[in-house]
Amino acid sequence: MQQKSADPASCDLAILGGGLAGGLIALAFAARRPDLKVMIFEGAKRLGGHHVWSFFASDLPEGAEALVAPIVAARWDGYEVRFPGLSRTLSTRYCSANGTLLDRAVRAALPADCIVTGAEVVQADASGLTLADGRRFSAGAVIDARGSRGLAHMEGGWQKFVGQRLRLSTPHGLDRPIVMDATVAQIDGYRFVYCLPFSPTEIFVEDTYYSDTPNLDLPALRQRIADYAQGEGWAVQSVEYEETGVLPVIAGGDFDAFWRDGGDLPRAGTRAALVHPLTSYSIPDAVRFALYLTGLDNLSGSALSRTSHDRAAQHWRETRFYRMLSRMLFGAADGPERWRMLAHFYTLPERAIERFYAGQSTPLDMARVLAGKPPVPVGAALASLTGRGRPLADLGAVS
Ligand SMILES: Cc1cc2nc3c(=O)[nH]c(=O)nc-3n(C[C@H](O)[C@H](O)[C@H](O)COP(=O)(O)OP(=O)(O)OC[C@H]3O[C@@H](n4cnc5c(N)ncnc54)[C@H](O)[C@@H]3O)c2cc1C
Repeated sequence: MQQKSADPASCDLAILGGGLAGGLIALAFAARRPDLKVMIFEGAKRLGGHHVWSFFASDLPEGAEALVAPIVAARWDGYEVRFPGLSRTLSTRYCSANGTLLDRAVRAALPADCIVTGAEVVQADASGLTLADGRRFSAGAVIDARGSRGLAHMEGGWQKFVGQRLRLSTPHGLDRPIVMDATVAQIDGYRFVYCLPFSPTEIFVEDTYYSDTPNLDLPALRQRIADYAQGEGWAVQSVEYEETGVLPVIAGGDFDAFWRDGGDLPRAGTRAALVHPLTSYSIPDAVRFALYLTGLDNLSGSALSRTSHDRAAQHWRETRFYRMLSRMLFGAADGPERWRMLAHFYTLPERAIERFYAGQSTPLDMARVLAGKPPVPVGAALASLTGRGRPLADLGAVS
């Protein structure tokens, strides 16, 4: 085993950004490559930010359970979806992780002097980085996990939401999440409410939109959450936590231009567009990539650059089907009718739904998603696939 550097300003691998992707890489290396000295640099005071990150247990590759276990706050054996005319309970296990637990887990896994927080990285290259306060660190390799910075050269729409954890004065009565309740009024595109019952009197309620615009009307969405709770008969005592998100839903773009403009550093997470184009979720890809990195023999800067590019390019190719569905959703379906695509999707066999969320749909799954009574007008759908539908430029480049 090689000797780890005792120099506090030197390491084998420097991770820029201690969010989801950076934190998971740190955890994976601590567990699987203890021979390497890994340091993580985060601009905020805490790692992980203020996030609730959810995923299906079936999203994760084999061997990932131990990696994510320390950041998972809750698990449920199944979930529900609700659409006009269709309610379904599925048995896939649903899990919820969060930033507070990620911070705690990384601090437990790495030595304290390998975690540098409250430190903005202002310059980085293959051999190290400089912080805003002038400190310089050298590294055998550097990986950039500083978040998406917008997705230049890509097009699509937006998944935007406000989520609140509500404390209730009486039990809500739910024993599993509602991943989509689309029986609500369809406003601003495809709208649904998402509920995570963290305890009998604590529930996270998120008002979500697949919208053509990134604008978030915070007071209106807060009011809709309050109205939803009231409609369910839930007596809200207090709002314990709130998060907002405006995430890109990727419908197309120029991957090569995106990569070229992102600099020379190896990249991870949303910085590398390692996201599901339609759900905007990144946990499954972040976990896969973190585990993959720990298996590499050659972690030199140039090898890592090549590897991160090749993995991201492969992901881009393999997720073409989901970008096509995003185009259908935004380009062909009128806002108030978009829910029909999702309702149709939720009539599929459970395993096909699992593979969809994991980004691993088979050709048969894809045919099933597109088959049956068309969820959107066929002419518009086909036109959108050949670039003759509503111009995606109208939806704005994702930034
Ligand atoms: C509110 C919200 C909820 C979401 N929910 C889910 C979900 O349930 N499931 C899911 O899979 N996905 C979810 N996503 C989408 C996506 O998975 C997350 O955005 C995820 O956090 C992306 O991971 P990342 O590591 O690429 O970026 P981030 O987690 O954003 O991490 C980037 C980190 O880099 C730091 N940073 C940036 N610049 C610098 C700098 N110059 N120097 C030092 N540090 C820097 C940032 O402070 C940040 O901590 C959600 C997104 C949001 C915004």
